Amino acid sequence: MGVRLANVAKSFASFRAIRDVSMDIPTGSFAVFVGPSGCGKSTLLRMIAGLEETSGGQIFIDGREVTAVEPADRGVAMVFQNYALYPHLTVFENMAFSLRLARRPKAEVAERVGEAARILQLEEHLEKKPSQLSGGQRQRVAIGRAIVRQPKVFLFDEPLSNLDAELRVQMRLELTRLHRKLGATMIYVTHDQVEAMTLADRIFVLKAGVLQQAGAPLELYDEPENRFVAGFIGSPSMNFLPATVVGRAPEGAVVAVEGSEHRFVARMAKPLPEGHAVEIGIRPEHLAIGEGGLPVTVEVAEELGDISYLYTRTASGRELIVQRQGSRERLDGRAVAVSAAAQNVLVFDKEGKRLR
Ligand code: ATP
Repeated sequence: MGVRLANVAKSFASFRAIRDVSMDIPTGSFAVFVGPSGCGKSTLLRMIAGLEETSGGQIFIDGREVTAVEPADRGVAMVFQNYALYPHLTVFENMAFSLRLARRPKAEVAERVGEAARILQLEEHLEKKPSQLSGGQRQRVAIGRAIVRQPKVFLFDEPLSNLDAELRVQMRLELTRLHRKLGATMIYVTHDQVEAMTLADRIFVLKAGVLQQAGAPLELYDEPENRFVAGFIGSPSMNFLPATVVGRAPEGAVVAVEGSEHRFVARMAKPLPEGHAVEIGIRPEHLAIGEGGLPVTVEVAEELGDISYLYTRTASGRELIVQRQGSRERLDGRAVAVSAAAQNVLVFDKEGKRLR
């Protein structure tokens, strides 16, 4: 087993930053903790690193309990958002630092740093100071410092957030390649759901210190367990509309959206009583424009070439985003109707829990 958390909690004075979080991160997987600012993802990572004490629960790395073990003895290496490089040391010395501290033989230091530099394509820069490097190169040095320690687990705290958009995409790919090459367990913290979707083989969504859902990226996308996960994963976000159950169809529940005669059929196995107030969720790419749907007005159309986003509004004033592909018909200001297949209409109760 890579990393296991059992009922981990953390309080700062009376503030409960992490509440009873349990999770399994298999050896060799790429786990991503994602959630909005302040949800506790960095605190959780820092507890795994040993930089923050736990207020409750247990942490296991490779089957060994490390809850009270010193950070240096946990077999983890952390890469920080601000790189934390020593400005007066060369790239080589920055990467060699922890090995020198551990008094490793010279030849071993040279070999491990050389290997990390090769993997990260930093060989030409070994004699430079951090100030002579680009942002992406500095980030690679920070990763190199972790690699030379040959940790069981790599911990990344928003490592790409200081890079520009283009470089972030490039570094994202490099991290995926690095993970495949090293085969080590990696845990990565971000507030960016696109980063989470693209990097992770397992995503852990947090909100207000509570684990909302854990699963493979597409599992979370297709089968969110609550409204928060449904809205957080996916861009543009899932559309939500208040609705009332008015009947039953073979595929699920028939629901009426407020202020309209249009009926959606929503995917539901369990029958719901008529008159039950729910909320339905439909992703922008699952709404199709055509006859007999829910009437909406297109307020703004964003044309991206291959796809377009239509920002529309229902008669009762709800915003509904529609993603279209392969059509360049101008629809700004037009009244259209939208519909969705039952398969793609999800149901949530008033508390935001997904009903199936
Ligand atoms: P961000 O993306 O903004 O970094 P996060 O999800 O990583 O957010 P944390 O840094 O883990 O959030 O913080 C979780 C909560 O705990 C926040 O409300 C934060 O204010 C609080 N917190 C974190 N560290 C401390 C501390 N040392 N003392 C008091 N409160 C803290």
